[in-house]
Amino acid sequence: YDFARALADAVSGSKLETGAIKALLMANPEQTKSLYSAADRTRQTGVGDEVHLRAIIEFSNYCRKNCLYCGLRRDNKSIARYRLSLDEILTTATEAVALGFRTVVLQSGEDLYYTPEDIARLVYSIKNKHDVAITLSLGEHRRENYRLWREAGADRYLLKHETANPELFRFLKPDTTFETRLRCLHWLKELDYQTGSGNMVGLPGQDLDTLARDVALLRDLDVEMAGVGPFLPHYATPLKDAAAGDPELTLKTLAVTRLCLPGAHLPATTALCTLATDGRKLALNAGANVIMPNLTPLDVRRQYQIYPQKSDMTEKPLETLTSIKKLLAGLARPLATSHGHAPKFTGGM
Ligand code: SAM
Ligand code: SF4
Repeated sequence: YDFARALADAVSGSKLETGAIKALLMANPEQTKSLYSAADRTRQTGVGDEVHLRAIIEFSNYCRKNCLYCGLRRDNKSIARYRLSLDEILTTATEAVALGFRTVVLQSGEDLYYTPEDIARLVYSIKNKHDVAITLSLGEHRRENYRLWREAGADRYLLKHETANPELFRFLKPDTTFETRLRCLHWLKELDYQTGSGNMVGLPGQDLDTLARDVALLRDLDVEMAGVGPFLPHYATPLKDAAAGDPELTLKTLAVTRLCLPGAHLPATTALCTLATDGRKLALNAGANVIMPNLTPLDVRRQYQIYPQKSDMTEKPLETLTSIKKLLAGLARPLATSHGHAPKFTGGM
């Protein structure tokens, strides 16, 4: 596949084969510029110039799973574990709303301490008190739990497929399988969640064919949101000596994802900002339209260490908001004031 031909096909809205996606991912530095500007234009026509903010609250770092890449894995005995109470989570969500956020993302390890009914009550209380969208990111659960939480008012669910290579998936996530992950994603779609998936770039054992399949999978799942971020090695995991993902390849993957999913919400991921100080700006210019500031209370934030040196460990929410507003003003990108639901859930942009 030739880069120019693949880009022309992508821009015209043709469904790309994985070979064409791979040709785009292999863009040389000169071609990369045209890839990013094409993605930027597709972002503009697909979801507009507005940037949506989602406040992320990481409410528990306990996890029953043992993913090889993640600092929260159950075998990591070197981190202090914490759980926020339901009241503390509600208070934090209230702070986010007071700061102007229209979406809160509740994320945690797979922690069965909170019963499905606890989570449902929490979602219901937040929705009852505030005019805010709720995204859950709690990992793999039974369909009936996903249904309970949807009925309680949850709008969206993030569950990254992590890698589209089933063998690599099995190696990296020994407690589960790729089929289970896909089944969960299909349930979420059936239950009418705005569904998000995504993958890491630069996982050990990942090649460009796999990465091309990652993008094709996001397109075929027709996800409403996709998080594409670099893999970052954590010192207390079996992958501690592996190399980090490449920021440039991550940006290219983001741009190609945008070309394949014009209407999706794509965040400038925190992992990318950890690798590159201007990561947010670069991502917003290569197809991204979402930023997810960290609202986790500062006294526990450091303990949610999925990878080292997350870029936002000590910043107070107000400081984060100020720097985002400055960045957006410089890029002439307005801050969204709506809930930022997926276009196909609102019948428009
Ligand atoms: N436990 C839930 C799950 O796995 O879906 C949600 C929390 S998990 C910490 C959120 C995301 O962190 C994962 O989807 C994964 O992509 C990302 N993550 C974990 N370890 C990482 C690492 N070392 N580098 C980059 N991203 C990582
Ligand atoms: Fe747990 Fe999610 Fe980390 Fe896996 S990625 S160990 S499920 S928190």
